[in-house]
Amino acid sequence: MTSSPAKSVSDSGAGAGRTNLLGLDRDGLQGFFAGMGEKPFRAKQLLQWIYQRGVYDFDAMTDLSRGLRERLSAQARIELPRAIFDQRSVDGTRKWLLSLDGGNAIELVFIPEARRGTLCVSSQVGCALDCSFCSTAQQGFARNLTAAEIVGQVLYAVDALAAEGEGRRVTNVVFMGMGEPLLNMEQVLPAVALLTEDYGLCLSRRRVTISTSGIVPALRRLADRTQISLAVSLHAANNALRDELVPINRKYPLEQLMPACRDYAARTPHRRITWEYVMLDGVNDSDADADDLARLLGDIPSKINLIPFNPFPGARYRCSSKRRIELFSERLYRAGFTVTVRRTRGDDIDGACGQLVGRVQDRTRRQFRAERGEEVTGA
Ligand code: SAH
Repeated sequence: MTSSPAKSVSDSGAGAGRTNLLGLDRDGLQGFFAGMGEKPFRAKQLLQWIYQRGVYDFDAMTDLSRGLRERLSAQARIELPRAIFDQRSVDGTRKWLLSLDGGNAIELVFIPEARRGTLCVSSQVGCALDCSFCSTAQQGFARNLTAAEIVGQVLYAVDALAAEGEGRRVTNVVFMGMGEPLLNMEQVLPAVALLTEDYGLCLSRRRVTISTSGIVPALRRLADRTQISLAVSLHAANNALRDELVPINRKYPLEQLMPACRDYAARTPHRRITWEYVMLDGVNDSDADADDLARLLGDIPSKINLIPFNPFPGARYRCSSKRRIELFSERLYRAGFTVTVRRTRGDDIDGACGQLVGRVQDRTRRQFRAERGEEVTGA
C-alpha cells in the first residue's frame, strides 16, 4: 500500500452562490441557459466541454462569446471535489478521500480488472439504514450528496487515472459506496443521466449499476425513469432474518420487494437483477438458506453475487468459511443460477464493502484477510 497527498483538481471553495454546473443534466442546463436568455444548444456545448474535453474553465471554452463566458464565470462554476488523501492497494485498487463542502468527506474506490475498471461511488455521507453488518451504519447519516458531488466523483477519478497515464479507465460505475441511492433519487437521477447520456460520459446503461437495500416505491420510480442495471442487497431469503440484517425490510418486506424487482427486470430486457448476499458464518449460509434463496428468486432473471463479509472493529459477525461459501454457491448453481463470489479487493486500504468510513480516522489493522474468490464487484 502506498499513500500520498493527492493534488487538488479544483482550487475553489469560493463558489458560494454560483451554481455548480456539474449537477445539471441536459434538461437542467437548458433551463439554466434559458434563465440567462440563451438558446438551448448552449447546454450541448457546455456538456461537450466538460465531459468530452475535460475542460472546466469557462475562459477556455472558445466557442462561447467572451460576454457569455464572463456572465458564466459570474453566475456559475464547474467544481470537482478535492482529494485530501490517496491510497493504492497492493492489488491495484485505488481509494481517494474526497473533501466536500461543509467539512464532510467521502471515499471513492476504483477497482481495476483485466478488461474493465469499476468505480464505486457514494450517494450520501453516511447512511440512515442501519444494516447490522455494515460499518457505514455505525457512522449514521449526515446528508445527501448533490448531483454535482456524485458526478464530481466520477470526473475526479476519470481525470486522476488519465493523469497517471497507466491506461486505466472507468468503464463501469456502481452506486455501492456509502449511502442508499434510492433515498436520494432527486440527485441520483440527474447524475445517472449525465453518466449515460451521449454528451455526458456516455457510459452504457448496462455498465451503471444502482445497488439498493430495497426502497420499493423508489425502485418503481427508477424503473419508469432509467434502464440502468440493478443490484439488490438481499442477504436473507426470509423476512425474519432480513428484518434483522437489513432493517428497512420491516417497512418494505420481501412480498413487496420481490414483485418490484421482477417488474424492474421485465422493463429492462435481456438484463438480470444482481442479488447481493453477504456470507455471514452461521447466520444466513446454510444449505437450507441456499434452498430458500433459490425458491425466493424462482424464475426472476438473476445473477447471485456472494460477498464474503468484511469485518470491521465492533462487528458482531464473522465471514463464512471458504468451503461453506463454495458449498452454498454450488447448491445455487445446481438449482440453475449464475453465481459469482465477489473477490475482496482493496481490504488493505479499507476500500472493501462496508468499510467506507467517511472521515479520516485512526484505522486499526484488520486481522482478517477475506477468502479469495473468483470475481469482483460490478455489472
Ligand atoms: N445502500 C446500498 C448501497 C451501499 S452497500 C445497498 O444496500 O445496496 C453496497 C454493498 O456492500 C451492499 O450489498 C452491502 O450490503 C454490502 N456490504 C455492506 N457492508 C458489508 C460488509 N461488512 N461486508 C460485505 N459486504 C458489505
